[in-house]
Amino acid sequence: MPGTPHHSSLSAFGPDFPFGHDQWLSHAAGLGRIPDASLGAEVAIVGAGIAGMVAAYELMRLGFRPVVYEAGRMGGRLRSESFSAAPDVIAELGGMRFPTSAASFFHYVDLVGLETLPFPNPLTPAAPTTVIDLAGEAHFAHTLADLPQVFRDVAEAWDQALEDHADLAGMKDAIARRDSHEIKRRWEPIVRAWDDRTFYDFVASSDAFSRLSFRHREIFGQVGFGTGGWDSDFPNSMLEILRVVMSEFEDNQRRIVGGAEQLPRRLWNHTPDDLQHWPTGTSLASLHAGAPKPGVVSIHRDSRHGRIELTDRWENTRAYDAVLVTTQSWLLTTNIDVDEDLFSHRLWMALDRTRYMQSSKTFVMVDRPFWNDINPLTGRNEMSMTLTDRNTRGTYLFDNGPGKPAVICLSYAWMSDALKVLPKSADERAALALDTLEKIYPHTDIRGHVIGEPITVSWEADPDFLGAFKGALPGHYRYNERMYSHFVQRDLPAAERGIFLAGDDVSWTPGWAEGAVTTALNAVWGIVAHHGGSTHADNPGPGDVYDEFGPIVLGD
Ligand SMILES: Cc1cc2nc3c(=O)[nH]c(=O)nc-3n(C[C@H](O)[C@H](O)[C@H](O)COP(=O)(O)OP(=O)(O)OC[C@H]3O[C@@H](n4cnc5c(N)ncnc54)[C@H](O)[C@@H]3O)c2cc1C
Repeated sequence: MPGTPHHSSLSAFGPDFPFGHDQWLSHAAGLGRIPDASLGAEVAIVGAGIAGMVAAYELMRLGFRPVVYEAGRMGGRLRSESFSAAPDVIAELGGMRFPTSAASFFHYVDLVGLETLPFPNPLTPAAPTTVIDLAGEAHFAHTLADLPQVFRDVAEAWDQALEDHADLAGMKDAIARRDSHEIKRRWEPIVRAWDDRTFYDFVASSDAFSRLSFRHREIFGQVGFGTGGWDSDFPNSMLEILRVVMSEFEDNQRRIVGGAEQLPRRLWNHTPDDLQHWPTGTSLASLHAGAPKPGVVSIHRDSRHGRIELTDRWENTRAYDAVLVTTQSWLLTTNIDVDEDLFSHRLWMALDRTRYMQSSKTFVMVDRPFWNDINPLTGRNEMSMTLTDRNTRGTYLFDNGPGKPAVICLSYAWMSDALKVLPKSADERAALALDTLEKIYPHTDIRGHVIGEPITVSWEADPDFLGAFKGALPGHYRYNERMYSHFVQRDLPAAERGIFLAGDDVSWTPGWAEGAVTTALNAVWGIVAHHGGSTHADNPGPGDVYDEFGPIVLGD
């Protein structure tokens, strides 16, 4: 496919479940076989985000007939919103930067032929200049080396803390070598040590940061260790942060030209050439006559036949042997009427205690990438990628090439910073952000370049989401483990079998589409096994090796 250089030596292999989903996907033997009697059998998929679409696509290849339900917009949290005045110009409201280590995600990016470019992150050549504005002082830089010494001290302290307290080099080496035994051996003590403790605790109690001032911690909270703004995550379980660092999710990130939403949409229309049952030319779109079914309002077990009945918002009910739910798990107790018996109370606890992070983004379209101009008064770029302790937090600049309008993500904020703008309209949010940016760039007329209407999102305000993505708190490891492991259903009572979970919430790396993809693949394995199918001996699937390499189980 288009030769976009996005392949990484290290891929997201573990650490909780060190299994190569990307290798499973690309193996010549395929993902498995289902009994002839199941060919053409309907499997319900609730949610047409990337998890639902990947699962539907692979189930179709295996010979099932996926029946996709979607309450809102296809693509879910991969949402690329067009500016109404220029439909080719888009704002990425959800996932926008994808690390090259996300090997399973990129398997599908390649499959559907999407082009990618380096993401304009702070202090990277794609930015191409960065301003870090802290405590009223703006620092202009191309790379970390241009910043005052205190920033390098912070970066070194973070690296040192990871070496001292989290075995970073050893873990990354084992992950790069895909040494599953070694990964598990090294990860287990880290899980036990850090499940109960926050990211802030890790930083504050580390030897490296304790030698420095509070100001260093504050700077770390603003600038982070890659893409900025990490103090929003300070209350999270430290394990969440370690997974991101060990999987290099903050490194080598790329954006999808034309928007990330194209990925689920192209999968919907893609016609695989290795279908096991359907005629060549079959796609998810053709199996659905062009459109998914509407949102699901109830999920019940039909007590007479044991099948699972889904009712959609227009009161149509259909029964399935297997159902995959990819919506955010809070929706199972708020928006969808679900039989309590379908999950154990231990699992309900996990589904409901899962905690979401909030996030808002506000974008404007501008006439051109004016930030490449040099301001005569400052001798510097008119504007830069900007990290600040002011309310905008992160401002990103998207250059769509010469002769095309460009886009500014005026503000990308999480948690309290996102909640501060929750009641405000798009216009009010844009005005607030522009006021802030004028303080950082007093000599640049940013407003003079804005064209069209602003676009904004608050994921927590959308009833089909209720939040941006999971952000596990201390003590949540057990909940993650219950949700993640649910796809291996052989030991479940019959009343709890046949309903599967996948998506961002179920993943060990929430907030990253890679986890949505790999949990969808786990569910595919579970659904094949549920129908009496199996994998090829040369290409064992996630459930085949789960007893040996599955996540550590901490006692209750
Ligand atoms: C602000 C933000 C920034 C992000 N940034 C990044 C990033 O830079 N890089 C990265 O890799 N990831 C990022 N992510 C995470 C990534 O977007 C998600 O991991 C991924 O898109 C989740 O896919 P999913 O299929 O699990 O869930 P979703 O995309 O949420 O899909 C679930 C679908 O279910 C639908 N649904 C809800 N209720 C019902 C119902 N009753 N019936 C039928 N359908 C229903 C929803 O409408 C939705 O389409 C970001 C997410 C957000 C919100």
